[in-house]
Amino acid sequence: MTSSSNPTSTTPPKTLIPQEKLQARITEIAHQIERDYAHCDQLSCIGVLKGSVFFMVDLLKQIDLPLVVDFFQTSSYGGKKVPGEVRILKDIDLSVRDRDVLLIEDIVDTGHTLQTVLSLLRFRGARSVKLCALLDKTSQREVDIPIHYLGFPIDNVFVVGYGLDYDERYRNLPYIGAIE
Ligand code: 5GP
Repeated sequence: MTSSSNPTSTTPPKTLIPQEKLQARITEIAHQIERDYAHCDQLSCIGVLKGSVFFMVDLLKQIDLPLVVDFFQTSSYGGKKVPGEVRILKDIDLSVRDRDVLLIEDIVDTGHTLQTVLSLLRFRGARSVKLCALLDKTSQREVDIPIHYLGFPIDNVFVVGYGLDYDERYRNLPYIGAIE
């Protein structure tokens, strides 16, 4: 768990986005990506561990395009979201030079994590970089991050499930829940 809005209790998560709604929106996004990249020779799909994994798997299984998969893992020093303080714990293995990259993230909060990752991908010579995020806490944004494909905007609540954790728990919930 890495967030600027930590929960104070472990009350069971209350459903915020049910499984059916989640899956229906993911199918729509997959179709949109498939149309947008119809002429792409190979799409580099890069996820940010660990939270994006469930979303990424369900999304990519529905995209019938030539693609490759890789992962970053990030963390913030002291758990704080401070500009320039995002660490890359695991780097991608593949080169993105002259590649079309689709960066896949679970949730955009302040935007610092993605700002760091997006800058790195551009620095390494990616031909294009687009962002696909399942959730967006717009009210918390501190840096401008364009989200090309978005699942759902949400309020500033602490969410778990479908890959998102609280202290490593709840990732396997098939829905997005909120904890108080
Ligand atoms: P940002 O750098 O945009 O502030 O933070 C993005 C990261 O913070 C996400 O990848 C995720 O790990 C974490 N995060 C932000 N909000 C939440 C939340 O509500 N629940 C969980 N589980 N993680 C969150």
